[in-house]
Amino acid sequence: MRRRVLPAFLALAGCASPVVPPPTLVLPVATAAVAAVEAATPAAAPSVAPPTASGDMIFDAWASEFQGRALAAGIKPEILSREMAGLTPDPRVAGLDSRQPEFSKPVGDYIKGVVTADRIAIGQRRAADTPMIGDIENRFGVPRQVLMGVWAMESGFGSIQGDLDNVRSLATLAAQGRRRAWAEGELIATFQIIQSGEFSRARLRGSWAGAMGQTQFIPTTFLSTAVDEDGDGKRDIWGSSTDALASAANLLAKAGWVRGQGWAREVTAPPGFDFSLTEGPKEVPAWWAAKGVRPADGKPWSANDAAAETQLIAPAGANGPLFLLLPNHFAIRKYNNSIAYALGVGLLADRVAGGSALVKPWPQETPLSLVDRMTAQRALAALGFSPGGSDGVVGMATRKALRDWQKARGLTADGYLSADMVRRLKAEADGAGA
Ligand code: CA
Repeated sequence: MRRRVLPAFLALAGCASPVVPPPTLVLPVATAAVAAVEAATPAAAPSVAPPTASGDMIFDAWASEFQGRALAAGIKPEILSREMAGLTPDPRVAGLDSRQPEFSKPVGDYIKGVVTADRIAIGQRRAADTPMIGDIENRFGVPRQVLMGVWAMESGFGSIQGDLDNVRSLATLAAQGRRRAWAEGELIATFQIIQSGEFSRARLRGSWAGAMGQTQFIPTTFLSTAVDEDGDGKRDIWGSSTDALASAANLLAKAGWVRGQGWAREVTAPPGFDFSLTEGPKEVPAWWAAKGVRPADGKPWSANDAAAETQLIAPAGANGPLFLLLPNHFAIRKYNNSIAYALGVGLLADRVAGGSALVKPWPQETPLSLVDRMTAQRALAALGFSPGGSDGVVGMATRKALRDWQKARGLTADGYLSADMVRRLKAEADGAGA
C-alpha cells in the first residue's frame, strides 16, 4: 500500500490526476459517463439480490442504489451479485482518504528524496535489461530513461504496487460520497475488466485510491490505455514489466509526447531578471536567450529543443534552480498533474541517462504549515490580490497573486511563498487592517 505525497504548494489547484486524484479534489457534478448512466437507469427495481448487509447503514444504502447504475452501465447481474456479495467498507481506505498533511514538503526536499543514487543505479540497470524496451521506445517515441523515471515514481520499479482489493477500496470511496461519481465510474470500470475475462478480481489489487500495478493505472486508464506488448493476450500491468512500461509509454504518447525532444533544461537568469515571467509566456529558447536566460550547463540547445516553445519556472524561487519546460513536461503532467511530480520523473530520467546533477543546488527551505499558507492567502486577498481562495493549496492563482504583490512592492516577483513572504504579507495585512 502506498500513498503519493506531493508538496501541496506545488500541486495545481483543481488538478485531476489520471492515477491518484488529489485529496482536495471535489467533483461538483457527476462525470459525463456516470451522468449518462444515471439518466439511463430504469425506474424498475434492479433484479439483483441485495448484497449481504455489511452492518454499515450508509454503505449498504449506497450499495443497493449503486447496483442499478452498474446494471445500466452494462454490468451483468450475475457479476454484480457475485462481486458485491458480502462486501464491506475498508476502514483503512476511509481513514486515508480524509487525511490531510499538516506541512507541505518543500520541493527541494521532495526532489532529493526522488533522485537518489539507488534509484539512478536501478534505473540504469532496468533500462538495459527490461525485455523489449527498445521496441517500446521505437513504437511510442518515449525514451526508456523517462519510462524508468515514471516506473520508479509509480511503484518503485514494480516493487510497491499496493495490495488492496480494488472493488472494496472503490466501493468504500463511493459510499463515503465525497468523490462518489469518480469512484463509481472506476468501480464500474473494474467490473468491466472482470466481465471481459481479461483478469479476475483476485488480480485487480492496488493502492487505497484504486491505482493498480506497476504503472498505478486506475481502472478507466487501464481500459483506455494499457497495452499487451509481450503478446501473451493480456495487458498485464502487474506481472509484466514489458506490458507496464509500454502502457506508461502509451499514456505519455497519448498525452502528446514529442519524439526526439527533451522535457526541460536547467537555466540561469541574469541579475535584475524579471521573474514575473515565470509560469508565463511559452517562447522558443532564442526568445529567452535574448533576455539572458541560458542553459545552466553552458551547452547549446539541440535542434529539436531549440524549436520548442518553452515556459520558465522557479519552483523554489529565484534562489533555487530555474527550468525552461518543454512540451514533454506537460505530457508527464497528464500522468500526475503536479509540477513536482513531473520534475521528479524528468530529473531522475536525466540522471539515468548519464546527465549531471543540477548546477544550482536546491535552497534550504522551511516547511510551511497549513496555517502559514492560509494566512498568506487571506493576506493577499485582504490587500486586493486574488489568490483564488484560502484553502492552503498554493496553486497557480495564488502564485500569480503573489507575483503581482511582489512586483507591486518592488520585491523579486518569483511567486515563491517562503516563510519570509508569509511574514511580510501578514505584517502588511495586519497593518492595513489596523
Ligand atoms: Ca501481455
